[in-house]
Amino acid sequence: VPAARVRGLTKTYGTGQALVRALDDVTLDIAAGEFTAVMGPSGSGKSTLMHCCAALDTADSGEVWIGDQDITRLKDKALTRLRRDEIGFVFQSFNLVPTLTAEENIKLPMAIAGRRLDQAWYDSVVATVDLGDRLGHKPNELSGGQQQRVAVARALASRPRIVFADEPTGNLDSRSGAEVLELLRHAVDDHGQTVVMVTHDPVAAAYTDRVVFLADGRVVDELRDPTREQVL
Ligand code: ADP
Ligand code: ADP
Repeated sequence: VPAARVRGLTKTYGTGQALVRALDDVTLDIAAGEFTAVMGPSGSGKSTLMHCCAALDTADSGEVWIGDQDITRLKDKALTRLRRDEIGFVFQSFNLVPTLTAEENIKLPMAIAGRRLDQAWYDSVVATVDLGDRLGHKPNELSGGQQQRVAVARALASRPRIVFADEPTGNLDSRSGAEVLELLRHAVDDHGQTVVMVTHDPVAAAYTDRVVFLADGRVVDELRDPTREQVL
């Protein structure tokens, strides 16, 4: 089964004269073990799609399946469990807790959930993010690239089946961005995880297996094994 299936997803913001159809009957499969990019103009619905897929927002109609569960039908408790155990999310602006060290940030979701950390998995994630002695530092003592690597490690720490990333390299220089993209690529290639990433950057898209293009809340095109030139 696909890691995620979106069926007829529709979401409208606002009321009366000021209606905006952010998603208009979106149907999409995300294959397990693939790295997918979502691209499209500003306002085309990319963030809304990611938030609905990650159970951070709800649509007006349609279905979102994560594995074998239609998450639009889950009750609060099951939704909390799904967000905690099956889904990772990486934000453009890192969203780290400023008063905690990198290590504490990475372990925080597991700690809050009262879940025991798989030490071997944690060690391998931390080794890949390559922070060295910076693990004991707080976010304001880290570069943007290091902060985003911490955020990726935090998203991976619970070993989720799918990770959503909304412009994870949008605030980074190209070298830091490449490091974050390599981390996500590694999660797919070496750990069989599934990653879906919103990006505007053709260089970032070229790291993925597939690009899905949105326009006006609809899927308008897609591309396999994209090259940078193809998505420019
Ligand atoms: P993208 O991520 O592709 O830039 P978004 O999903 O953020 O697109 O937005 C899609 C459309 O929905 C845009 O027209 C945007 O202005 C609108 N929109 C998004 N979030 C809200 C919101 N909370 N309230 C009202 N309109 C919104
Ligand atoms: P993106 O970088 O994906 O284009 P935006 O900067 O458009 O995102 O939006 C950032 C946040 O503001 C999102 O969480 C979105 O839901 C919200 N938002 C976007 N458009 C509107 C809008 N017209 N009215 C209210 N909130 C909005």
